[in-house]
Amino acid sequence: MGTVIDAANKEANGSLLTDKKVTVVFVLGGPGSGKGTQCANIVQHFGYIHLSAGDLLRAEIKSGSENGTMIQNMIEEGKIVPSEVTIKLLQQAMEESGNDKFLIDGFPRNEENRAAFELVTGIEPNFVLFFDCPEEEMERRLLSRNQGRVDDNIETIRKRFKVFMESSLPVIEYYDSKGKVRKIDAAKPVEKVFEAVKVVFTPSGDQVAV
Ligand code: UDP
Ligand code: MG
Repeated sequence: MGTVIDAANKEANGSLLTDKKVTVVFVLGGPGSGKGTQCANIVQHFGYIHLSAGDLLRAEIKSGSENGTMIQNMIEEGKIVPSEVTIKLLQQAMEESGNDKFLIDGFPRNEENRAAFELVTGIEPNFVLFFDCPEEEMERRLLSRNQGRVDDNIETIRKRFKVFMESSLPVIEYYDSKGKVRKIDAAKPVEKVFEAVKVVFTPSGDQVAV
């Protein structure tokens, strides 16, 4: 409700993120599981803003920021960039967008990312979309996508898989224990996967029988 006090608080904080109506969906899954591809589809159909943590970090490197070299080294090693860097970029992007529905893709990647994001922003995700895909299929996709990424080589890919299993899966398990995970079989072709994604984003009363 927009009381005068709420308005004053909002102005004092200068942030739309204090508004409780912000909707956040974390989009998680291993490297090459199709997060970016499916997020683009979700944006077109459901009016979300897509924020890829990896893309924001790569843009930060390109901008010549003082953190650029550190971020570049972490990405080349498949390591997780310190939370404060990633969270600051996500917060800025959310505020600048002027939107209130966000797909946060590829974040949080470990328990520390998760806890820090909740603490700093006060935001809990509405749900977590989890793209479940076998490593063989993810590896095949990463090695054939040719996007010029410094981390799409077999050595870094293996490191990214290890980090995903050891650090990121526990985040998914945490949200699963809260009943917040919507798991999608991501090994199928893009259109088939999107059919399953659509069901998750469509309010149950609106689903049309076919
Ligand atoms: N990364 C990170 N924190 C994040 C997101 C990405 O440190 O919240 C780094 C990490 O080194 C990761 C790389 O950026 O391996 C690429 O992430 P992206 O999500 O673009 O790729 P994916 O592994 O999902 O294909
Ligand atoms: Mg991606």
